[in-house]
Amino acid sequence: MPRALITGINGQDGSYLAEFLLGKGYEVFGLVRRSSTVTDVRIRHLNERITLLSGDLLDQMSLIAAVERAQPDEVYNLAGQSFVPTSWVQPTLTGEYTGLGVTKMLEAVRLSRAPIRFYQASSSEMFGKVVEVPQTERTPLYPRSPYGVAKVYGHWITVNYRESYNLFACSGILFNHTSPRQGLEFITRKVSNAVARIHLGKQPDLALGNLDARRDMGYAVDYVRAMWQMLQQPEPDDYVIATGETHSMAEIVEVAFAHVGITNWRDYVRIDPALLRPAEVDLLVGNPAKAHQRLRWAPSVDFRGLVGLMVDADLAGERSRDCTT
Ligand code: GDP
Repeated sequence: MPRALITGINGQDGSYLAEFLLGKGYEVFGLVRRSSTVTDVRIRHLNERITLLSGDLLDQMSLIAAVERAQPDEVYNLAGQSFVPTSWVQPTLTGEYTGLGVTKMLEAVRLSRAPIRFYQASSSEMFGKVVEVPQTERTPLYPRSPYGVAKVYGHWITVNYRESYNLFACSGILFNHTSPRQGLEFITRKVSNAVARIHLGKQPDLALGNLDARRDMGYAVDYVRAMWQMLQQPEPDDYVIATGETHSMAEIVEVAFAHVGITNWRDYVRIDPALLRPAEVDLLVGNPAKAHQRLRWAPSVDFRGLVGLMVDADLAGERSRDCTT
């Protein structure tokens, strides 16, 4: 039975990856930070089938101990401070988790001397003020937030450990991806949840920031499959995972409202200047050709299908909340 250790297992991607690996017959271990509040909502249904280990990306010894305990064949480093606006409020903490934390995890893998395959969650935010359209694995990086800068560090330290120590280390440059398990602070989930609540008469309107930004938006379930596929290749490498399409944030709003039959969406949306960012990423669109060719990876849902499934999930969630309260 292959063994995997996932940092950030209680996040969106971590929870889907855990399900995917269990389906493949893996024994799954997850690194979690101790907390006095509830943080396991996304993995509670897996509790009987996974082993949670206490640790923190800031604490080198806890990572060494987790690798020793899990004896993993594969390590997926998905933990970190993941929300771009927070990275301006907590820039050094973001650097510690999202940047230096990668080195700590890589060191734990290296020191184990075991032939562990390592996956690093890199991000299209590294492309920031893009110097090329569409973005590929070879596009120069120009991050636009402390989060993006930290991800650039994490990406290059992964490449460096591969080249320095011959580690099987892959960096997945994942473009935006969402799902019903995404946090409510990210735009797609914020919109789908608000549209569901507005449709059900629970909320009058919705405050948003810059709707001109464009993103390449995919479905998280498809993206965790790509992580695993990268680690099954004969050689470690870096891959862009994206749909190859770009849509404005206004389009997300429009399609989400249209899904519940509302066409005058501007009547329900307020632009709040507080939600604008000090520096913006205006346009992201990835070229996933390498992943298509080498991994045979392709997304399973198109843009409209994705927005529709998000709204449907939030409608179901809001309705079931009514039944239980
Ligand atoms: P990101 O690409 O990782 O920053 O993902 P987000 O979902 O947080 O933001 C995507 C884009 O939506 C960015 O360009 C934001 O400026 C824009 N945006 C506009 N309004 C909002 C909002 O209310 N919340 C968030 N999170 N983003 C917004």
